[in-house]
Amino acid sequence: MTGVQRGAGMKDQFGRRIDYLRISVTDKCNLRCTYCMPVEGLDWIDRAEFLTYEEIASVVRQMAGQGLRRIRLTGGEPLVRRDLPDLVRLLSEIPQIEDIAISTNAILLPQFGSDLRDAGASRVNVSLDTLKRERFRDLARRPERFFDATMEGIDAAERLGFSPLKINTVLLKGLNEDEVEEFAEITKKRPWHVRFIELMPTGDNLHLSERFLSTDSVLKRLRAIGDLRPAAGPVGNGPATYFQFAGAAGTVGVITPLSHNYCDRCNRMRLTADGKLRTCLFGTHEVDLRAPLRSTGDVLPAVREALRGKPERHLLQLGTARGSGGLRALSQVGG
Ligand code: SAM
Ligand code: SF4
Repeated sequence: MTGVQRGAGMKDQFGRRIDYLRISVTDKCNLRCTYCMPVEGLDWIDRAEFLTYEEIASVVRQMAGQGLRRIRLTGGEPLVRRDLPDLVRLLSEIPQIEDIAISTNAILLPQFGSDLRDAGASRVNVSLDTLKRERFRDLARRPERFFDATMEGIDAAERLGFSPLKINTVLLKGLNEDEVEEFAEITKKRPWHVRFIELMPTGDNLHLSERFLSTDSVLKRLRAIGDLRPAAGPVGNGPATYFQFAGAAGTVGVITPLSHNYCDRCNRMRLTADGKLRTCLFGTHEVDLRAPLRSTGDVLPAVREALRGKPERHLLQLGTARGSGGLRALSQVGG
């Protein structure tokens, strides 16, 4: 049955079980990745519009009673929101929640990583689009010392025992495509799970359309540097397809929203920093949870409405923002 049923988990009208919520805690960021955010930033959501941590926990508590099991905190850059460990602690106290992960650019992990881990976060995904210090300035549009900070953040993640460690690399033809072998080589020795992500078109990155690179061509190149075989991949909730070099410590994954969409196995919804429940990363369908939270406190009727409207698939198309439903950047909804 479609909708929210006690004990039955949350199913949408296409029979997909939704047990995973990606929560954006802020739309702001300390980087300006070229495919994600304009240098001048965006029209930021007013802080007064943000859900408080108590409100986020209330949403999760209610959805957990209906089958929600896994959480990812994202943004913008989630670690720039003050006192993030307090949110992690509130969420980890909800008995049904089995997994709390964070997507981050790693820059603030040396500062906050141990508090986040102690509060109950178990895993981090780190964005890293280049291994070349001088390139960081072009790709993340911040000085090279931010690259050093990112690498220190990755070291901190390993030292603190965040595991498995997933590295997200967005493929850009002519900008970082020459590094795919180098990224993949790392997985032979270190337990990194490097995932190559296809560029997704949004309103502010259409000028990069000709930089789109399909993961198929990357896999072909990687087969030339080793015995690359399909693999189960690390634990997680994502849409990546994994491979592994014989005897490697880590894996290589591909995330292919354009070349091979995986909407039929979608298990997720997204909560924006201002309390909109979005049923697809792209498209216009969203339901406001903040108003019911602040009136009756009961969000489940709105969650039920969202589930009913979850689209069967996204309609992304290279070169146009139409399929992204008016989104300027993924940082507005958490990626
Ligand atoms: N700041 C955190 C980070 O970078 O991991 C979390 C937010 S970021 C929006 C989440 C993920 O979305 C990152 O892995 C980023 O590389 C990816 N991303 C952002 N815009 C994208 C786009 N247009 N196409 C593909 N991936 C994108
Ligand atoms: Fe910031 Fe992440 Fe977007 Fe880069 S991808 S600008 S780190 S939100």
